[in-house]
Amino acid sequence: MDERARIALLPPEVAARIAAGEVIERPASVVKELIENALDAGAGRIEVEVDGGGIDRIRVRDDGCGIPPDQVVDAFERHATSKLRSEHDLYAVRTLGFRGEALAAIAAAADVDLTTRPSTDDAASAVRVRDGRVQHHGSAASAAGTAIEARDLFAALPARRRFLRAPRSETRAVAQVVTDYALAYPEVAFRLTADGRTVLQSPGTGDPRDAVAAVHGAEVATALRPGHAHRVEEGRAEEDAPAAEVSVLAGPPSLHRANRGYLHLVANGRAIVSRSLAHAVEQAYQALMPAGRHPVALVRIVVPPDQVDVNVHPTKAEVRFRHERFVYAAVYAAVRDAIGVAPAGDLRLPSVSSGPLAPREGGLGWGSASLPPGGVETAEAVPLPEPRPETGRSVIAQAQAHGFVRPATAEERADAGETGAGAPSMLKRLPALRPMGQVDLTYIVAEAPDGMYLVDQHAAHERVLYERVLARRRTGEVASQPLLEAVVAALTPAQVSLAGSEAEALEAVGWVLDETDGAALIVRAVPADLHARGRADPGRALREYLDRLDAEERLTGPDRVAATLACRAAVMAGDRLDAEQQRALLLALEGCETPHSCPHGRPTMLHLSRASLDRSFGRT
Ligand code: ADP
Ligand code: MG
Repeated sequence: MDERARIALLPPEVAARIAAGEVIERPASVVKELIENALDAGAGRIEVEVDGGGIDRIRVRDDGCGIPPDQVVDAFERHATSKLRSEHDLYAVRTLGFRGEALAAIAAAADVDLTTRPSTDDAASAVRVRDGRVQHHGSAASAAGTAIEARDLFAALPARRRFLRAPRSETRAVAQVVTDYALAYPEVAFRLTADGRTVLQSPGTGDPRDAVAAVHGAEVATALRPGHAHRVEEGRAEEDAPAAEVSVLAGPPSLHRANRGYLHLVANGRAIVSRSLAHAVEQAYQALMPAGRHPVALVRIVVPPDQVDVNVHPTKAEVRFRHERFVYAAVYAAVRDAIGVAPAGDLRLPSVSSGPLAPREGGLGWGSASLPPGGVETAEAVPLPEPRPETGRSVIAQAQAHGFVRPATAEERADAGETGAGAPSMLKRLPALRPMGQVDLTYIVAEAPDGMYLVDQHAAHERVLYERVLARRRTGEVASQPLLEAVVAALTPAQVSLAGSEAEALEAVGWVLDETDGAALIVRAVPADLHARGRADPGRALREYLDRLDAEERLTGPDRVAATLACRAAVMAGDRLDAEQQRALLLALEGCETPHSCPHGRPTMLHLSRASLDRSFGRT
């Protein structure tokens, strides 16, 4: 907005066209709306403070254009906005907010105090809103810009308040919102303080790499490579020709992570969620990255405003593009450009719908309301050359030296119910397994009196470790390996919050962590199992642990932390195991209470009985 428009009430027909909805669900939604208002006001600096997850207090202060004194009260009216006048504007909004209902909704859900001063005015206006009513409207002294404070969210709406999660979880959601905007607006300096601690601070230099550094650390930021694609489809009237400009900062294939939390998509200045575009990015790394790992990338997309549907449900960031496949292809090209596997991409495409870059048929096109169940997943399952797993790491030998893979002790066997003759678990006990060798460094072939077994070495080891961790928890034993020197692990705000909310369970498995003032934790000790596994860099081990923990979906609470340890400490597919190591692993598995599945419920083994072998070979 060059010329500042007056706040006015939307005509009812326009208001009706706007998806009515609950704008305010939780503290993070308040923060999102207030940040968007600050950005729309042209702020160069935005400070967010939350106490008690934002439930107790949220304060957002900006150095933007401020609200003129005669309009301050109007700003709290429902459908009051300075950004939209007619229905036509709705399809070409360039500002972030336009529904004109955020301040009204926030004031309905919390006690609000607002202080604002346009830089051209001498005095600031102060407004206090209680129960949605403006109670006080006076003047005050304050810096130019706007500060809004919301207290006691949903205090008068106990039913809504019950849906809020623990303060730590709410803080985490707030951190996610601030992170998204810090990455989308590198030219704006953001600061997030939670309960007095600075959890995120971006410099506002305008360089996206600096914003990434603020979120993921300098090491990740420097590794990222720029890529670009600018595409316009030919043969259409200029104004509605599909067009997309995509700039990315993408990690090299060697920089991979255990979850998708390092992939950030921004479209026309909004952080967005798009399964199809996330797929485009991952597709660009296809065959370059080990299966199940995810890239680090910041993808910024600009399309003509009327080619992206912003009028979606206000609390959902899932965005639809009019030319979804076209944008998909541009994103793919930009990432390929960044990682150096395609020429720089300023090209004009005759059509993308039949090109090799086009996604498979099945729901990615414009007009389909949603992806068909498993649509994208199916595409992922198309057989494509898999990267060869890393081979030959002899970590098991080291692990064994630490008593890491060993047969269960008599005590543990007793614990697992082996002595209880007739106990149901007896039925599921394994026979003695004799290892015959490895298949593809992934499966152990074993012979037993009742036929042949194929054992997934990773899943089996996970099961063994998981039961061991649970057994230790029962006895209160903590297997921890102190570090000679404490290490500072740079983390994301979300990782810090996650570590905070799982602090007790993490400690119980052997992590000794201390808080710092920023987005980092001090690592003093690591779980002994992880240490034995030879995870050399404790900071990295912690990051990967927390990512894995975050991705762990089936289990909850301390079990989730235990399963994560088992997963991180277990041998991987691709690890070479000698005969002795294979035998030790199978023996340990035989000692397990529930040997047939890993902690996530996936099978650890396939059994081909003698009878079924005979049947298959026509011997019966
Ligand atoms: P919307 O952003 O959709 O217009 P809001 O309820 O969020 O509706 O805000 C109402 C109006 O109040 C805005 O249109 C804007 O004119 C004014 N406003 C709100 N927050 C700020 C701010 N931080 N700085 C300047 N003006 C603001
Ligand atoms: Mg707004």
